[in-house]
Amino acid sequence: MITDLFGRTLDYLRVSVTDKCNLRCAYCMPAEGVSLVPRRAVLTFEEIERIVKIFAGLGVRKVRVTGGEPLVRRGIVDLVGRIVRTRGIESVPMTTNGLLLAQFAGVLKEAGLSRLNVSLDTLRADRFAEITGSAGLPGVLEGLRAARDAGFRRLKINAVLIRGFNDDELFDFADLADAWDFDVRFIEYMPFGGTSWDRGKFMPASEAVARLKGKFDIEPLEKRAPSDPAYAFRIPGRRGTIGFIASVSESFCQSCTRLRLTAEGKLIPCLHADVSLDLREPMRKGATDEELGALVQEGARLKPRAHEDFMKNFSAEAARKRKMISIGG
Ligand code: SAM
Ligand code: SF4
Repeated sequence: MITDLFGRTLDYLRVSVTDKCNLRCAYCMPAEGVSLVPRRAVLTFEEIERIVKIFAGLGVRKVRVTGGEPLVRRGIVDLVGRIVRTRGIESVPMTTNGLLLAQFAGVLKEAGLSRLNVSLDTLRADRFAEITGSAGLPGVLEGLRAARDAGFRRLKINAVLIRGFNDDELFDFADLADAWDFDVRFIEYMPFGGTSWDRGKFMPASEAVARLKGKFDIEPLEKRAPSDPAYAFRIPGRRGTIGFIASVSESFCQSCTRLRLTAEGKLIPCLHADVSLDLREPMRKGATDEELGALVQEGARLKPRAHEDFMKNFSAEAARKRKMISIGG
């Protein structure tokens, strides 16, 4: 088992399989762009498979495939199949921007992918272009249809809540959840390196919940798992659910079970702490599975009790160091 210094058992690994992306979301990608890591610095499929096996041997049961945009990595379906077949791994979901889903949904389902989270912040084409730099909204909607047709159930939609940008679409997303039977999750806008974050654009989840309550008779839902960071509601008589991930205004660090692996093989114990541990070089220099397992345990012990309070202590300098595009959300 992987446990940290504060008694949390870490059984969920998020693997970023590439730092490349076919979108340029203003809240994720620094305005100046990111310098892509050289190809040889990125973990090969064999290396990812080996690391996942080591994590599975230490009790990890869920591996989320993320990026950058995971669907731009060549051979991604093969990689998903390898992770799915790893002994001990029970669930392999993916977070994607959906742009290439129409092409991939069927083969991902066949490869055994468990679930899809599709990031979509607006249902309006002009706003989509403004926030992502792409005219891709119809492609994402086509991808959602393809995913549903391929048999993916209860698709999750992740929308970053941005005051003055999409906070007036709350009810539209509630309609989307009903029409498609989706689980919509609004994520509080987190400050990341070089992005367009500022306090004025931040809206706490509590404010959005209050607006929803003003219009609907919402019913809180039981959490599916204690480590689920979202609190969710259903609207009686409607399908789907609406939830909120209040990562900025309410910390859920206490129940966090996650570890992250970057495309370059760095273990990141906390999304918001400036600590990491390299697994790639020791692996390439011939470390045994036992030695790598010991490094994973060492990385887990770097996990802080809780992350800083962003709203009180926002430091542009500290935020600049953390790049969501590299860490994978
Ligand atoms: N490209 C894929 C996608 O967009 O779904 C996977 C990687 S992306 C980094 C993972 C998630 O991080 C997305 O749901 C995205 O909305 C979220 N994200 C990125 N920057 C964020 C920010 N500043 N605040 C909150 N969520 C953010
Ligand atoms: Fe790309 Fe996803 Fe970041 Fe948007 S949120 S720039 S799609 S990695």
